[in-house]
Amino acid sequence: MTITNQGTGAAQGSVLAAHGIEKTFFTTTPPAKVLNGINLEVRPGEFTVVMGASGSGKSTLLYCISGMDRPTEGTVKLDGRDLTSFNNKQMSKVRLEEMGFIFQQAYFLDNLNVRDNILLPALKAQPRERAKVEARVDALLKRFGIDHIANHGVTQVSGGQLQRASICRALATEPKVLFADEPTGALNASTSEEVMNALVDVHRDGTTVVMVTHDPACAARADRVVYLRDGLVVDEVALGPWTHEHSEQRSDFLLGWLRDHGF
Ligand code: ADP
Ligand code: MG
Repeated sequence: MTITNQGTGAAQGSVLAAHGIEKTFFTTTPPAKVLNGINLEVRPGEFTVVMGASGSGKSTLLYCISGMDRPTEGTVKLDGRDLTSFNNKQMSKVRLEEMGFIFQQAYFLDNLNVRDNILLPALKAQPRERAKVEARVDALLKRFGIDHIANHGVTQVSGGQLQRASICRALATEPKVLFADEPTGALNASTSEEVMNALVDVHRDGTTVVMVTHDPACAARADRVVYLRDGLVVDEVALGPWTHEHSEQRSDFLLGWLRDHGF
């Protein structure tokens, strides 16, 4: 296992490159400056975790680099295209077709079954490819072990199954980057483990993942962990590829590193 404190650099090119990201909310008096000039590059296939104390700006950063919100200053490039120059319509097209999202809550429609909840946004993104989208969704349901509940109502399945369904929904359009904001935040330890195993599979299948979490055990699964304080990246650590047999060693190392940062 390699653990280094070196930045991962951008030698291989990045799928996502955020530079000089600042965010000020003008909805409060005085306005709140929440992000203070963040640079973050994510390489294709990389699993990046963002950590930091509550209120340090993790969610705001995730929203600003995923096209859910706009930074006040700075650029966000997806495959070299500057998203901050896009209008709202272009931005929602990019979100729908090229980004995947997982939140703490699944936000599924109660009147649709699990499979239709997953299909709906993918069909909106790719309306002329119904058969292909359906085949992909069925493969994802199988991949994440929830094909047997495909026709169940979303209120009839467990929290872990629902979150695995959110992963399927997020991957149904084959996004360039999967963003996850505290995806295990509402789950107990064993369910959290189940969802993290699924996210490790997502990463192993080649998807680029950027995840916010406050759980060191979840963060230990990532290739690298970035630490935020007061809207700035203060440090990052490269953990290398996750292996189950090194899980305790990684968690212990990461805990020490986090404590050094006052976590
Ligand atoms: P984290 O995810 O690290 O807990 P957030 O990004 O949610 O932190 O929030 C960072 C800071 O920005 C907090 O102080 C929060 O109150 C503030 N903030 C977040 N969203 C808004 C908003 N829409 N308007 C005003 N302040 C906000
Ligand atoms: Mg948050």
